[in-house]
Amino acid sequence: MAFWRSKKEKSSATPWAEGKSFKDFFNDAVVELEGLMARAPGWYHTLPYSGAMSVEEAKNFEIEKRALWRRVIYDAQRTQLAGLKWETRGDGKVCPDCQKQDGRIFSLEEYESLNQMVMHIGCRCNLVSVRE
Ligand SMILES: [Zn+2]
Repeated sequence: MAFWRSKKEKSSATPWAEGKSFKDFFNDAVVELEGLMARAPGWYHTLPYSGAMSVEEAKNFEIEKRALWRRVIYDAQRTQLAGLKWETRGDGKVCPDCQKQDGRIFSLEEYESLNQMVMHIGCRCNLVSVRE
């Protein structure tokens, strides 16, 4: 009986209920980054922080950054957060594409398109929660 009940509870759950684990985001980020790297063989030499990290460290950093970025968007969507603000580092190394997004606030309806945008290798931008 208990088995039947738990099965029923599971099938009536919302798609969000089980949630994605950080490992899911990490695995997705590996795939995403490998795609970007394949298209930019010289990626390591264009990093704004290349002197500070080995290739392996930079790769891990890029994966973690991407996983976090995607999770922030996912959580904002799930918790119906009012907005996410794109913030660059505001220094001379910000790329033109990111510069255009600096300070832009993405509303709840825009999270999906935000998630479709490419986070380029070497991007140091952050998404900041906007609560009203
Ligand atoms: Zn950026």
